Amino acid sequence: MSAVAAGIEIDVLVSEVGPRDGLQSISPVMSTADKKAWIDALAAAGVREIEVGSFVPAKLLPQLADTDQIVAHARAIPGVVVAVLVPNLKGALRAVETGAHKITIPVSVSESHSLRNVRRSHAQMIDEVRAIASMIAEVPRASRPSFEVGLSTAFGCAIEGPVQERKVVELAEMAIRAGADEVGLSDTTGYGNPTQVRNLTRAVWSAIGRERLSGIHLHNTRGQGLANVVAALDVGLTTVDASLGGIGGCPFAPGASGNIVTEDLVFLLEAMGLRTGIDIMKLIEARGVLERALPGEALYGFVASAGLPLGFAPASERAAVGASEIV
Ligand code: ZN
Repeated sequence: MSAVAAGIEIDVLVSEVGPRDGLQSISPVMSTADKKAWIDALAAAGVREIEVGSFVPAKLLPQLADTDQIVAHARAIPGVVVAVLVPNLKGALRAVETGAHKITIPVSVSESHSLRNVRRSHAQMIDEVRAIASMIAEVPRASRPSFEVGLSTAFGCAIEGPVQERKVVELAEMAIRAGADEVGLSDTTGYGNPTQVRNLTRAVWSAIGRERLSGIHLHNTRGQGLANVVAALDVGLTTVDASLGGIGGCPFAPGASGNIVTEDLVFLLEAMGLRTGIDIMKLIEARGVLERALPGEALYGFVASAGLPLGFAPASERAAVGASEIV
């Protein structure tokens, strides 16, 4: 479980989704300048993948209307993978035009959620995945983005209730057959528990192969977020989504509140000896951008208010100490 991002070896990739998932679910519209400042602060802290926006019609999500400008800004930061969400082929074309590095289309495992969220059935969504995959295949290899299908409501749906494991596996297989590079598991509603995380990951792996699923997107709606992260790590997933200050949610899943908190996630990982490449103090300082830009908006997280434990050392420093001791 080791990857090299921007020349720094890491064990777990923390993917920040606040500028997309966070902002789409709160009513204030953050200014373009503040979004840029937020992304700069995340990158300065060492965050190596940021989902910066979504290519949806501005009338549906005015909060993300400036995504093209934000992609252009983030692309200029060395070492940052710029990810975007798209609802359809039209959005994917815009993502390719702006030069996003990674494109994710959410496909809801609950068909009722899909119909309410994007007004499309599973068959229609898989057709869209196929169309996007063929379009991306035409992009010259050097600038071709990676293409992921995010399996949303994979752990349960606020409309349908429990979601069968078999349905998740089936859609994962369909997504890969339609040309997606990989799938991700999304607990859109915060229904998931650690046992489910382990079982579902293993079931999907056995159907499509380990290399086709590396990431998980968790919400902390019922306080199970970090427990689910530990289960994901135990089973061997290596990418975890989170948002700074835990802002986020899903406007179409009643009761869904924020994503897991990036600062608390990084603390958990580093405390467990897993390198993230992220400077946790700089990450905590980055909350200042949110406090200024979103006055009155609730920010979550324990580490930011409690502070780091006395004598805390990040995983990379402890690894270095260990290595020199051996020498
Ligand atoms: Zn989400």
